[in-house]
Amino acid sequence: MTSNLINIKDKIESAAKKSGRHEKDVTLVAVSKVHVADTILPVLEAGQKIFGENRVQEAAEKWPTLREQFDGVELHLIGPLQTNKVRQAIQLFDVIETVDRPKLARTLARIFEEENKRCDVYVQVNTGLEDQKAGIAPEDADNFIKLCKDELGLNVTGVMCIPPFDEDATEHFKLLKSIADRNNIKIISMGMSGDFEQAIAHGATHVRVGTAVFGKRPGY
Ligand SMILES: *Cc1c(COP(=O)(O)O)cnc(C)c1O
Repeated sequence: MTSNLINIKDKIESAAKKSGRHEKDVTLVAVSKVHVADTILPVLEAGQKIFGENRVQEAAEKWPTLREQFDGVELHLIGPLQTNKVRQAIQLFDVIETVDRPKLARTLARIFEEENKRCDVYVQVNTGLEDQKAGIAPEDADNFIKLCKDELGLNVTGVMCIPPFDEDATEHFKLLKSIADRNNIKIISMGMSGDFEQAIAHGATHVRVGTAVFGKRPGY
């Protein structure tokens, strides 16, 4: 696991340099979903701090204990968030990467206020306009980002996308980058195990890598 981590970090560094950027401009979010604490521990011990999980309940079972053992962990929610899980989610996560609809944005704003606790949020864009996939439609992204920032006061620091699995991701990466640039958003979360180098070439600042760090997910 530790050798995978080192290998991925090397690849991130080379990809960043190749596109004229610094390795520090690209952050690895290690996607630990489905993996048990024993699998995550060596990666924490190797110094990785930023992790992604896709289910609130699973994160609640694993991360409070891991956080007690390691300082400075930053946990990202990368899966869909139901409004009835928002209160629990904001206690567990530092960044919610999947803000994708007005109802969720409004609920987050209200509960941040009630709990007096805030997370950074990324707006998820459904770049492939896939029915089964979450995310705001690209044509609605500008207005939605304005709603989140200006009307609701959310701290929108990033955008994220999950391109269709059966297509070359290039156009999706370019589209997300253009949405980020014109909305003056600095963080661009795109790229997974199979395409993180390509994502970096197109401007990713955060890559979400699971399999290439932890190996195959159990049961998949
Ligand atoms: C699982 C997941 C990843 C990581 O996928 P790998 O192919 O295992 O690297 C990245 N982003 C999201 C949103 C995921 O759900």
